[in-house]
Amino acid sequence: MLSLLFSLSFLLCLALLLWRWWMKKRRLALRMSAPGMRRDNPVRVERFDDIDTTVSAVRCDCGGRISATAEGSLAVGETSLRVVHAECGDCESNLTLYFDCSRLLH
Ligand SMILES: [Zn+2]
Repeated sequence: MLSLLFSLSFLLCLALLLWRWWMKKRRLALRMSAPGMRRDNPVRVERFDDIDTTVSAVRCDCGGRISATAEGSLAVGETSLRVVHAECGDCESNLTLYFDCSRLLH
């Protein structure tokens, strides 16, 4: 009887770990499909203010606010990208956001 309880608790723990792994993987895939998370799917901006607005609206996976730590430019073919590196204020995770500045109004 004791071995049966031990086996059941082991299987329950294993199922919980698999469920957490799968949810984390799903959450990451969902996040990476959002505009701005990959260089081939940047957020299109028409003003530099739009970059600040978008960065302040993005939340980390933990729910914390992110703040920009560095910015740079990147040219991919004809597209001019602005790359913003950000860090979560709560868990200190790093995040990179991509913005398409091709239609930027000067
Ligand atoms: Zn965080």
